[in-house]
Amino acid sequence: MVTVDFDYKKASTVEEALEALASREGKLLAGGYSLIPSMKLRLSQPEFLIDISSISSLKGIQEENGYIVIRAGTTHAEIHDNALIQENLSFFHKAASVIGDVQVRNRGTIGGSLAHADPAADWPALVLAADAVIDVVSRNGSRSINATDFFTGLFSTALEENELITAIRIPVPAEGTRTVYMKYEHPASRFAIVGCAIMRFPDGKTNIAFTGAAEYAFRDTAAEQALAGKALDGAAIEAAVNAALQGQDVSFMGDYYASAEYRQHLAKVYLKRALEAVV
Ligand SMILES: Cc1cc2nc3c(=O)[nH]c(=O)nc-3n(C[C@H](O)[C@H](O)[C@H](O)COP(=O)(O)OP(=O)(O)OC[C@H]3O[C@@H](n4cnc5c(N)ncnc54)[C@H](O)[C@@H]3O)c2cc1C
Repeated sequence: MVTVDFDYKKASTVEEALEALASREGKLLAGGYSLIPSMKLRLSQPEFLIDISSISSLKGIQEENGYIVIRAGTTHAEIHDNALIQENLSFFHKAASVIGDVQVRNRGTIGGSLAHADPAADWPALVLAADAVIDVVSRNGSRSINATDFFTGLFSTALEENELITAIRIPVPAEGTRTVYMKYEHPASRFAIVGCAIMRFPDGKTNIAFTGAAEYAFRDTAAEQALAGKALDGAAIEAAVNAALQGQDVSFMGDYYASAEYRQHLAKVYLKRALEAVV
């Protein structure tokens, strides 16, 4: 399949991209590894693409004011190779290694992945578990969206049409914080059938997030509460697994590859394995 015809503009600054976005209906193009396949399948038919892949201010990872700041245009491979990530957020390092294949990892960006909000994408679970904040900008100004408010439905987010993600900010984890990401992946695409991300803080607080299982990634507050203030022993893990997925305001997904019931079963299996890995 080929895409519909489209006009193309390469932006060299965020301001230029925002101006182009305001000038006519169009779509931002980052790595193109979600947008271009959707265009080829004619699921998306934008007539104007604004290429943001060369904007230098959207690249890189730094520590700033108590946050690890990952600029939106940073590729999965760059996240994987970054020393700050390896030192502080080992589950980001792990997740980056299991996204797609080498080509996808070398071109695809974290900002593109979050904006696209594929229900089977990996980064949504990671940003949720890491208490991340997503910084966005438009010609009307800038704002920060908590990851927990960002994903709103199947392929939908709290982003407005004219907004661009500039960065993902994650509070620098306290010493002794442990993180795990595990996924059961689709054998062809490597997208998550179920992915489970966990961040366990030294004070005993545990953040748990799932991707793949439902129409959008979510924090499992029932499982988190079952663990609150408890040592991670066998009984606590069992209680968390029993409580998991209860009272969630999301629809679990099923398709020809994995039914909704199977995905829920897998979510509990992966929660148990991930909690054991945290221990
Ligand atoms: C074969 C294959 C296997 C894959 N496997 C996996 C996998 O295992 N796990 C996984 O998580 N993903 C997987 N992906 C998806 C991949 O990670 C994509 O790179 C990613 O989802 C989108 O990032 P991108 O930079 O390519 O965005 P694009 O495709 O360029 O854009 C995607 C959407 O985001 C918007 N956008 C892009 N950047 C911004 C921004 N800064 N602000 C606002 N909107 C923006 C675009 O307008 C578009 O709507 C796979 C893709 C392919 C083709």
